[in-house]
Amino acid sequence: MPQTIRATVLALTLAVLAVPSARSQTFHVDDPVLRRMWTLGMEQSRTEQLAHVLLDSIGHRLAGTPGLDAAADWLVRTYEGWGVPVRRERIGTWMGWKPGLLHVDMLAPRHRTLEAYLLAWSPGTDGPIEGEAVIVPELANEQAAEAWLGTVAGKFLLLSPPEMMCRARQELEANATEATVARIDSVRAATERGYRQRMALLGGRRAGQRLDDAGIAGVVTSEWSGGWGVNKIFSAPTRRAVAVDVSCEHYGMLFRLAQSGWAPRLRVNAEAELVGEVPQFNVIAELRGSELPDEYVVLSAHYDSFHGGQGATDNGTGTIMMLEAMRLLKTTYPSPRRTIIAGHWANEEVGLVGSGAYREDHPEVVEGLQVLFNQDNGTWRIERIEGQGFLNAGAHIGRWISRVPSEITEHITLEFPGAQNNRGSDHTSFVCAGAPAFRLQSPYDEYRQYTWHTNRDTYDKIVFDDLKSNATLAAMLAYLASEDPERVPRDKALLPVNPRTGEPRAWGGCSPVRRTAPTR
Ligand SMILES: [Zn+2]
Repeated sequence: MPQTIRATVLALTLAVLAVPSARSQTFHVDDPVLRRMWTLGMEQSRTEQLAHVLLDSIGHRLAGTPGLDAAADWLVRTYEGWGVPVRRERIGTWMGWKPGLLHVDMLAPRHRTLEAYLLAWSPGTDGPIEGEAVIVPELANEQAAEAWLGTVAGKFLLLSPPEMMCRARQELEANATEATVARIDSVRAATERGYRQRMALLGGRRAGQRLDDAGIAGVVTSEWSGGWGVNKIFSAPTRRAVAVDVSCEHYGMLFRLAQSGWAPRLRVNAEAELVGEVPQFNVIAELRGSELPDEYVVLSAHYDSFHGGQGATDNGTGTIMMLEAMRLLKTTYPSPRRTIIAGHWANEEVGLVGSGAYREDHPEVVEGLQVLFNQDNGTWRIERIEGQGFLNAGAHIGRWISRVPSEITEHITLEFPGAQNNRGSDHTSFVCAGAPAFRLQSPYDEYRQYTWHTNRDTYDKIVFDDLKSNATLAAMLAYLASEDPERVPRDKALLPVNPRTGEPRAWGGCSPVRRTAPTR
């Protein structure tokens, strides 16, 4: 770069840096703690570095895997580095699984390496194995299913219904004729019906066991998520045979080749080790209350994930949001009035285990809970707080929100008292006990389609402007909740009438948490 241009660029850079960006914020109250939180959270954010370590270097955090352990270690080290007291709390065990490298190739009728993912807790192959890929034929009845199972030893089964179109639905609708969209929909519905019947004849939930017993080489699925290049990656139905998910496009190709008699041949080399039950841990950081230590403000988010991507928006973003909020709190409000806890829950994805275990193990926190805010859906700005049926909690939350700068809150809708929404994520582990717990919610639509439990849930999907804003919001809400002169009331609204009984629906209670992996 020539000297003069470089000087100009430098001058421009300095000019940009010299503009105090904090000036644009709109504070409704003159509160030095809120101002410092804004400066730290919006101008000196650590969210990018934190997300890089968690997602790029540690990666996914599936229950039972070394990734979950590594993330717990890193959370503990990070908090210790900031001088925030932190501990691991054992919640139970889960099926230990060490996945390694995976290679899936089509060898006939031509060579093609396939885009594939090992399904969760799949066994490995102990070196490369080869076999023909076959579709599940139409099966007339139980006897036909039994007879077919006698022919599948050594073969790879294409177990999912095929998609005839792997384009994102919105583009199909925008470009195709209505007649084409309707035809594709009806073919899809018929194919799915047919596959449900076949799977029922193969034993439904017991199908995996029967396929294992029949001596198959492996299972190939494709759980397309309805967008370009995106599959949901869940668990293996088998325990002996390897199970992989392949992209919508490659699965469709294999399916068509198998159906038309080309006898596609696969080679699968999967490293994976099932290592028995391993202990699982929540990570709990705590700033002890100076005046009301037995009353609690909890910021929480699960830190486990599915494994197809990096668990970036589910729930790396929630994890980083609460971690960064605790850094802001430790720096600006180190001696809070009430105790402030960050709950990093393990194993939400396998049944809200970490949060449920914490509720069972810490009745004193449930009892003394001022408020809990959980985050578990994606990136984008927080846009909604639902009241979960708490009749008078809204006045408190509305008061806190009114003190947060409008740049952060202008998109937020409060819905109080709202319906008790006793499912979805970890806040429900506390709502079921009548404790005021809420979800900080961002928009769902493209999250469901593109990143939720998919192979595309990666670092690049994070909108850091929003994550910074969300972390700052969480810190401010925790501070304001801690300082509130009063406790958040727990009285409950009447729930909407159940049309079948004509009575208001009852509040759901808590179920005991399942602390070990289910056995087949
Ligand atoms: Zn989640």
